[in-house]
Amino acid sequence: MGKNVMQYSDFVEVYEGLFATTKRLEKETILAEFLKKLAKEGEPEWIYLLRGKVTPDYDDRILGLSDKLAMKAIGKTFGIKDEEIAKRYRKIGDIGELAEEFAGKKKQTSLFAKKLTVEKVFSNLRKVMGIEGKGAVSGKIALISELLGQAEGKEAKYIVRTLVGQLRVGVADATVRDAISEALFPDEKQEMSKKLEIAYDMANDFAVVFEAASKGKGALGKIDIVLGRPMNIMLPVKVTEIGEAFRICGKPAAIEHKYDGFRVVINKVGNDIKLFTRRLENVTNQFPDVVQTIKKYVKAHEVILDSEVVGYDPKTKKQRPFEAISQRIKRKYDIEKLEKELPVEENVFDVIYYDGKSLMQEPFVKRRKVLEKLIPHEKWKIRPSMQIVTDSEEVAMKFYHEALKSGEEGIMIKTLDAPYQQGRRVGYIVKMKPAANDLDLVITGAEYGSGKRGGMLTSYIVACQQNGEYLDVGKVSSGLKELEQEEGTTYDEMTKLLKPLIVSEKGKAVKVKPKIVVSVTYQNIQGSPSYDSGFAMRFPRITQYRPDYHLKDIATLDDIKTEVEKARRGMSHLG
Ligand code: ATP
Repeated sequence: MGKNVMQYSDFVEVYEGLFATTKRLEKETILAEFLKKLAKEGEPEWIYLLRGKVTPDYDDRILGLSDKLAMKAIGKTFGIKDEEIAKRYRKIGDIGELAEEFAGKKKQTSLFAKKLTVEKVFSNLRKVMGIEGKGAVSGKIALISELLGQAEGKEAKYIVRTLVGQLRVGVADATVRDAISEALFPDEKQEMSKKLEIAYDMANDFAVVFEAASKGKGALGKIDIVLGRPMNIMLPVKVTEIGEAFRICGKPAAIEHKYDGFRVVINKVGNDIKLFTRRLENVTNQFPDVVQTIKKYVKAHEVILDSEVVGYDPKTKKQRPFEAISQRIKRKYDIEKLEKELPVEENVFDVIYYDGKSLMQEPFVKRRKVLEKLIPHEKWKIRPSMQIVTDSEEVAMKFYHEALKSGEEGIMIKTLDAPYQQGRRVGYIVKMKPAANDLDLVITGAEYGSGKRGGMLTSYIVACQQNGEYLDVGKVSSGLKELEQEEGTTYDEMTKLLKPLIVSEKGKAVKVKPKIVVSVTYQNIQGSPSYDSGFAMRFPRITQYRPDYHLKDIATLDDIKTEVEKARRGMSHLG
């Protein structure tokens, strides 16, 4: 069979299979079978479709069509009036199933019609994403109509779900990785899964990884970080006491302040400087001051630095908490004004690439040496992170208390001879800070307020994740600010963030696409049938909006179960 004739119905079969089971291993087997075929008969890029995408993860663009536009396209394709579509939609409540219903009803003149190829679907979806400006809406509708006109019921369902960014088949990155391993390296599955994870963290692109893996181990090993592209960063695990930190990191270990700022990876190639967040977003335009600082003080032609940008008060020179600087991440206008009001200092704690060479596999001490050579101590501009190296718990605890006293969040403990390991894995870096009941969660729904808060979305359904599914853990309505003048995100701002994400409305309640991540503190978590996670937070309160966080960073259901278990043990301990 030729490469370009693979049919979209093959994908549909996989989606249906994935949807039908919640068991990760079953999902993996389904995917692995399919990937064997895809490696032979398809294009590597088509693998994005398995996760409802048409671009690699480092690419900022998303499909994310509104349900409204999708309804228009369905109406146009099947010649149905807007009101009728809207009525059916209210009844069915799912835009994918709506498309399926109309596509399934259309006259069977399609007996001799061409089958939809994956190539056609992929290329039209890409074009839909690419169209901008005048005539974009009608252009998009035409491209979608072309697909829906040829689609069978189920095909239409998944095309539309992909378009609105809600494939809902519950496949996590890790499952795709393990499935690639099972498909292509069945005899060394576990070992190769780890290699695939490393390759994926560098490339941030399943097509690149899948293509290399199809060629063999050698090609996979050659995948490296790419200058100028966002990359996955190294993340710590949490410890609650210093002994545990040393057990994980070894003795002696490096200990650093944990700055309460904003993680930024800096990419410099000559005068071309780019800043990326931990969720791979480009924030270069929001921080012209940081770009200037790097230009002025970092004497390297090509370099990738890992750092924390910390805000401070220009008058008192006191550090400002993350909430303050998060305004700068969000802001798209008046940047210069904000730059003066909220100046920042760059605290550099790692160097990942330096003049033509990746330093990822070099031990941390060696990277630190390069860093100290490259980064000057320029107060309020840039400096190497504060660090000591010790094997004494006592010295480490003294450093910890000093860090807290000077307003830092806690400390980071780092293994001296460790490579730069992307992702959150036990081993080379841990964080220690005072315990707090707090979870990072995503908003999946909201409700309009009343009285002076009418028209604003003022309470929010928040969810954790498990294998790519979002599970509600409670409703939170406090913590945000009422007025613009106060520090922090306001209800009004949150409403503006959420409105474009609304997928359905029922009375005062709306459902939104999972995108907005918030940190929530609570008194405790209890088992509860009211939310689909099976748990509910008591007295939750939003402490921060986290525009810098990725959906991948939010708490998992397992994290919540661990918290519940810990609290239970703590209680029985007390009483
Ligand atoms: P939580 O509030 O849930 O603990 P967090 O905001 O601290 O989460 P984590 O990913 O758990 O996020 O902690 C790591 C973060 O700490 C990094 O992403 C980075 O932004 C920050 N950080 C501050 N100082 C350092 C440092 N010296 N070395 C490494 N990371 C640091």
